[in-house]
Amino acid sequence: MIKMLVCDFDGTLDGGPSAGVEQFSSYIQEQTGVSFVIATGRTLPSIKQGLSANSYPTPRSIISDVGTQIHHDNDLIKDDKWQEKLQAKWNKSSVQEALQSIDFLGDCNAQHQGDYKLTFEGKLNHQQYVAIAHQLQQYAIEVDLTYSHDWFLDITPKGINKASAIHYLMRKHRLSVEEVCVAGDSANDTSMLTISGVNSILVANHYQEVAHLTKLDHVYTSKATHAQGVLEGLKYWQSVHLDK
Ligand SMILES: [Mg+2]
Repeated sequence: MIKMLVCDFDGTLDGGPSAGVEQFSSYIQEQTGVSFVIATGRTLPSIKQGLSANSYPTPRSIISDVGTQIHHDNDLIKDDKWQEKLQAKWNKSSVQEALQSIDFLGDCNAQHQGDYKLTFEGKLNHQQYVAIAHQLQQYAIEVDLTYSHDWFLDITPKGINKASAIHYLMRKHRLSVEEVCVAGDSANDTSMLTISGVNSILVANHYQEVAHLTKLDHVYTSKATHAQGVLEGLKYWQSVHLDK
């Protein structure tokens, strides 16, 4: 049985017709045994705003800032245990100092920055991406780099991403990977879409950067886009796991 549905927001749930969001929301509200969780690259204030702009169901938890923050329940209580894990792995000013001399890094807009995440905006070619990774290595800084939408470069603590946050929630709620469904559309969803044994959904409007994932057995590629695509995928995985 599927007991937790984890959805990316932009381009996955959001961005399609409102009628699709309404269908998705009413279905989720009927599924009392399924926890609805958001996993987004947005900051918490930004995802709160996004969710309130349409009739989305209230998430049980929000994984924000590409996995570097987790908040729970209606009151959005910060998960302090998760934060403690991150503190030891992150020194933002060291990262900024190491990257000072890189003149092709894009803008670092305030609304996209998190306590444990730096986001630069701008197109990067492969050579530039490699140069950034090399520079951080030179400074012995261990971080993860995620370049998505051919525009956003996220720098986060090593090993912290949407997938590691989902593993944390699975342990917290004693869920097995077969009971979890994840849905996404772009490169910052790759970590969660490729969790071994998880039930994955790629919406029809996914980016080319994740098109290779459609070949994987555990990835269902929806015919529908956005929220309707997530709904289609959730129903598919629920039918697969009906007797289990
Ligand atoms: Mg997305």
